[in-house]
Amino acid sequence: MATAWFGPCPHCNIALSYLQGVTGSTMTPKCPRCRELVTVTRATFLMADHSRPAPPRPRKPTSLT
Ligand SMILES: [Zn+2]
Repeated sequence: MATAWFGPCPHCNIALSYLQGVTGSTMTPKCPRCRELVTVTRATFLMADHSRPAPPRPRKPTSLT
């Protein structure tokens, strides 16, 4: 079962989401910002934690050339 927790990057201190057991998780995940290896005890996928994600904006369809 996938679990997630939140913590800072040990290198650059950016807020990260540690997603365990998801597709793409690895024992040697890298910080999405500083690209340093983050030591984990379970296979983890790292994502920058945007605590206030921008809501998806409706877009007008644009014609492709
Ligand atoms: Zn980092």
